Amino acid sequence: MLTHRQLFLTHNAQTSDAPLLLEFERADGVFMYDVTGKSYMDLISGIGVSNVGHCHPKVVHAIHEQLDKYMHLMVYGEYVQSPQVLLAKQLTTLLPASLNNVYFTNSGSEAIEGALKLAKRYTNRTELIAFKNAYHGSSHGALSVMGVESFKSSFRPLLPDVNFLSLNCEADLERITHKTAAVIIEPIQGEAGVQIPHEEFMRKLRYRCNDVGALLILDEIQTGFGRTGKWFAFEHFNIVPDVLTIAKGMGGGMPIGAFIAPQKMMSVFKNNPILGHITTFGGHPVCCAASLATLKTIQEEGLMDGIEVKESLFKSLLVHSSIKEIRGKGLMFAVEFGNFEQNKRIIDICISNGVVVDWFLHCATAMRIAPPLTITEEQIKWACAIILAAIEEVYDSI
Ligand code: PMP
Repeated sequence: MLTHRQLFLTHNAQTSDAPLLLEFERADGVFMYDVTGKSYMDLISGIGVSNVGHCHPKVVHAIHEQLDKYMHLMVYGEYVQSPQVLLAKQLTTLLPASLNNVYFTNSGSEAIEGALKLAKRYTNRTELIAFKNAYHGSSHGALSVMGVESFKSSFRPLLPDVNFLSLNCEADLERITHKTAAVIIEPIQGEAGVQIPHEEFMRKLRYRCNDVGALLILDEIQTGFGRTGKWFAFEHFNIVPDVLTIAKGMGGGMPIGAFIAPQKMMSVFKNNPILGHITTFGGHPVCCAASLATLKTIQEEGLMDGIEVKESLFKSLLVHSSIKEIRGKGLMFAVEFGNFEQNKRIIDICISNGVVVDWFLHCATAMRIAPPLTITEEQIKWACAIILAAIEEVYDSI
């Protein structure tokens, strides 16, 4: 009989020649347990998802409760489904007053697709502006605004009329004009290796969009839900987007995303054509119930309260001559080694010693650290000791 690993390699679509091939049986809090019972600390939260930890009991309970009532009833936007309604209400209470209307999706990429369509439809313009090294997802529209050509060229033609600016380059802002439907930007670039824009640049970007009537779409799919120490990273910059995209940490481990905009803007989907954006499963009631429980957990358990202390602890412990720089905000870090081989070897050692870390899609020279917000100071110390030992091991062998 074939093992699960063999079946995985045979029947599950592969996206690289080197999948991690870890086989987990269960996960709880910051730990995942493989089929042999070995525990691994998840220091990347399944790529920015498990902000409240794996299988948080309040999230699991909310899922069970909703499962007993109903699952899918109807495509999005027709029936009044209480999990959707309550979640939309709760989300809007966390946001500036203008962001008062929520369209639920199944994933981050779909949230981006919806936001781009909304911008084109609302402004009646076609140009989209994005940033070099940006990551917004893997579907055609999201890929079109990705800022790295090597990931796109094999899939062209993509969306026309997309242009790219350099992060923090104020001169580039002039390229946003009356032809621009929207500018899309991550308030902190994730896959680029945690690149934090200057506050002044973000403010000037906001002003420029206002001046020319272009919408500002902020992609908080990776940075949202407490990851940077605030509900949303845009709060660090004192700006408000026209459209906000969210997903990942929002569902507490369940698949859900959304794009959020003022009601007047969102209402363009009602006509010309009617049903201007459709999804069957977007806002699935079980996912919405899980998401609402996730938001309440972040709030009730004060998961953002200790983030600054935890951030400082990571930064103070991860000191080594091999580390060129640590970029980060809250619990979202890139530990820069400036060398892919070295980074990869360190990561592999960490994983075999029970700490899951990773590199970044657009920054293979840096190590990704983004643990559940629930991680304790003791756990941080333990994880950092494992990372430092791995750095030493690789350092000694060079
Ligand atoms: N935007 C950002 C900033 C992301 O980090 C990601 C996922 N890494 C996406 C969009 C796409 O989300 P999804 O994989 O759920 O489609």
